[in-house]
Amino acid sequence: MSRTTVAAIHLDALRRNLARIRALSPGAKVMAVVKADGYGHGLERVARALAEADAFGVAAIADGQRLRAAGHRQRIVVLSGPDQAADLAELRRLHLDAVIHHDSQLTWLQADRDPRPLRVWLKIDTGMHRLGFAPERTRAVLEQLQAMPSIERDIVLMTHFAASDEFDKATTTDQIARFEAATRDLPGERCLSNSAGILGWPAARGDWVRAGGLLYGLSVIAGKNGSDLGFAPAMSLSTRLIAINRLQRGERIGYAGTYECPEDMNVGVIAIGYGDGYPRSAPAGTPVLVGNARAAIVGRVSMDLATIDLRNAPSACVGDRVLLWGRGLPVEQIADHAGTIAYDLTCGMTKRVLFVED
Ligand SMILES: *Cc1c(COP(=O)(O)O)cnc(C)c1O
Repeated sequence: MSRTTVAAIHLDALRRNLARIRALSPGAKVMAVVKADGYGHGLERVARALAEADAFGVAAIADGQRLRAAGHRQRIVVLSGPDQAADLAELRRLHLDAVIHHDSQLTWLQADRDPRPLRVWLKIDTGMHRLGFAPERTRAVLEQLQAMPSIERDIVLMTHFAASDEFDKATTTDQIARFEAATRDLPGERCLSNSAGILGWPAARGDWVRAGGLLYGLSVIAGKNGSDLGFAPAMSLSTRLIAINRLQRGERIGYAGTYECPEDMNVGVIAIGYGDGYPRSAPAGTPVLVGNARAAIVGRVSMDLATIDLRNAPSACVGDRVLLWGRGLPVEQIADHAGTIAYDLTCGMTKRVLFVED
């Protein structure tokens, strides 16, 4: 097997990032959010590196099943709970925690006669307006859940922030206040913060934090890289230079000839494209690293290949490794160029990419 496009996953970075989250959240338990195949880093691999987490958060029951099959015994929280009545049996069988956020789920639970225990988290919508019960219903829904015989008594009260990355905005302060008002005097642990909440809203620490992006070293704050925040990138994506061509001034490169050489220059061809998950939207000027030299995408990214301006890397040779993002080249920079966020890039790696651990 000679695949040249490699996503190296830095297990030590995952571990260090978890330790840093713990240091930022004294007294709180940490749910490592590993949905979307561990933000594209590989579910089992990430969970193994983060086996010390107090819980895992997933989006799908199937991910919970994979984690149980890999031997993880801690709590696994399905962040959107059952999608249909039939999911309840699977949640119970696998000992997965269910987030309950909607009346339809209450109806399924009420009708369910399965005696096996089920742990639930009650989600309150404090302003995100995606999942959750209206704050004023919190007490009634909690009591309804507590009255169900097979539901564990300890129910975690949770909410999700819509804009916790904007530290100077009132949105999060309002959400925290609404959550506190809705849960005052109610029993149970509290869980509010995502990554940005962990960084910027200590008042929202609660008993549990839910960390996603920061675990992978991904920035959750516009204009900052994960490393600016003290987190290490967990993925380095690289490929090889497979051709170097000397092109004349005025020659055009790639599909639709979107780039015209401004002078005679060396243009490299690298073995990566949108078929690997490198964004087709990355425009000319998006940086790559050839050794220590910073080069840039020119022309259109195609399915298997992309072209780079080698004027800044005169000693580049066919066979050299080229870094697309990771250690030394923050994925946030690439995301900015491509008009998306870092999460979208790491989640987008395709099956063709070879994952290795280091
Ligand atoms: C994805 C997710 C998280 C993690 O968010 P980050 O911003 O990546 O830390 C936390 N809570 C819920 C409900 C989520 O869906």
